[in-house]
Amino acid sequence: MPGDFDLVKERIDLVALVGERVALKKAGKVYKGLCPFHIEKTPSFQVDPDRRTYHCFGCSKHGDCFTWLEEMDHMEPVEALKLLAERAGVELTSSKRTPEDKAREDRLRKLMDTAHFYFTQGLRSPEHGKAAAAYLAKRGMTQATIDTFGLGYAPDLWDGLLSYMKKKSFTEEEGIAAGLLRPGDRGPYDWFRGRLMVPIKDSRGRVIAFAGRTMRADQQAKYINSPNTPLFTKSATLFALDLAKAAIRKADTAVIVEGQFDAIASHQAGITNVVASMGTALTQEQYVVLQDMKLERIVVAFDGDPAGQRSAEKRGRDLLPLLQRHGRRAGTGEVGTRGFGTLFVTVLPEGMDPDDLARADPAKLRALIAEAQSLLDFLIGKIRERSRLGENEGRLRFLGEVAALLAAEPDPVRREVYLSTVATDTGVDPTLLRRQVEAALLAPPTPAGLRAPAQPAADAGDADGPTEMKQTPVQERYVMALLTRFPEEIARVDLVPDDLADPDLRALLKELQAGKRPSSDLPAHLAATAAALGAAAPELGDETDPRQAIEIAAQRLRVQRLRVRLGETRAKLAQLADGDVTALAAEVGRLATDLEAAMARVERRTVLHGDTERREGE
Ligand SMILES: [Zn+2]
Repeated sequence: MPGDFDLVKERIDLVALVGERVALKKAGKVYKGLCPFHIEKTPSFQVDPDRRTYHCFGCSKHGDCFTWLEEMDHMEPVEALKLLAERAGVELTSSKRTPEDKAREDRLRKLMDTAHFYFTQGLRSPEHGKAAAAYLAKRGMTQATIDTFGLGYAPDLWDGLLSYMKKKSFTEEEGIAAGLLRPGDRGPYDWFRGRLMVPIKDSRGRVIAFAGRTMRADQQAKYINSPNTPLFTKSATLFALDLAKAAIRKADTAVIVEGQFDAIASHQAGITNVVASMGTALTQEQYVVLQDMKLERIVVAFDGDPAGQRSAEKRGRDLLPLLQRHGRRAGTGEVGTRGFGTLFVTVLPEGMDPDDLARADPAKLRALIAEAQSLLDFLIGKIRERSRLGENEGRLRFLGEVAALLAAEPDPVRREVYLSTVATDTGVDPTLLRRQVEAALLAPPTPAGLRAPAQPAADAGDADGPTEMKQTPVQERYVMALLTRFPEEIARVDLVPDDLADPDLRALLKELQAGKRPSSDLPAHLAATAAALGAAAPELGDETDPRQAIEIAAQRLRVQRLRVRLGETRAKLAQLADGDVTALAAEVGRLATDLEAAMARVERRTVLHGDTERREGE
């Protein structure tokens, strides 16, 4: 592991990495730019390509490619190592396989094949497989489809597979490691019982896992999957990719559906460039697999919105961070920063999933795939649907939301294209919209740029990306550090304690607003917080006006926090019953108004600031 850091550091082009976020100019042996860690007008931030380090002569920030990602994206060191190793094409020692690992993997693969044979025999067995076979017939599955996908049946026995695999000289321990057996008080037992079995294969067609659909009414879980094993990583697997690969390349389009039976039915209907995302939203790893095929279109098919489920817009927004993170990964263009261009969205008719539609009307499914909208068009359309464009306030809100969305698009050309279209459609001066996008872009660099409105607590667990909450404390700490240093400027700061996520900082802000001074009259624990902040406070340099720096930073923080709270409240609103709606709707309205006002202030500030700079430059 320690050697890994050195090797990766040596292979990473630090100028290119930093250059993704900071405009750098060559100056002799080093590259110079405006420091991203403190506010300044003349560049004191340098990247030294020979030493592979960066250094700021203004605020003394210093580090290498790892600390860069740790600082900018709040990554853990190991996370940064992994990402940079991938970028540099370095295989980490921790992930290298020993000969023993390989031998073990071979055994497990053979065991999966053995189990697969057992299940296919189970489906053919007149004693066990009848109900499952009848079920498949009822769903209109042909024998050819059953064979192509290798469908099977796990007989309703506790030790059916267990005795079969033992006969084939596999151990119980291997059965457990492969996710086929579960350890129990009286010894291991079959994990899949009385279930229709769908083998999950890797892109080379090797069985790596199973999904089982219950055939018994009394079984609680309708579907169960294999757990993650040395062979199977659920989040990185696309079901049916082995069968769909050729058609995907031919069509230059991949279609992603949610369920395995959606994919199977589509294939049987002759739409063969379809894969399934294993029941969850498209993950970053799955997206990368498809992106690396350099496709023109990756179409995500959403089931028609049944009442009470998350809306298509929400699900569309959930896809945004994928593009953002992938844009970063692609970096200087080695994979191609295609922005939103490759991801398309189609929504099926209400209450239908691809399985239903493929069976009932394959031509319609085909047409929906062909007509899929780019993610950006789709989201703009959704925002438009719920905005009252006939009213001034409605139009303002629409433009604000669209501007935030466009600011998240990594490709400036694509951004400009969408910007002029939206401006034309709404009859708004493009300059105005552009200025709004620029204001959104000026917000401190965040790894995901704009993200979906924060998720309600219930599904926060599946957010694998950096979240706004993880993001906020940095800006908070920056503002509070400045205020600790210049407490006399507290009146300039238009913040309420709720704008801060950290309880200590919130308490500190309250004290400062009550006129207390960090040097003298704070309670002990807050005095310690203030001292730590003061020590970390950025040097502003002579030419920077601290009042201005504080004002701008606080306004940005407020915008950031209002966005989060607005998103959270909207998400809550979407999930509520009618009775509770009125109060929350008022809250949403209030937050949206506050956000607009805060953004307008930032914009005004920026414009003023820009003017001064220009005059000085002349
Ligand atoms: Zn600096």
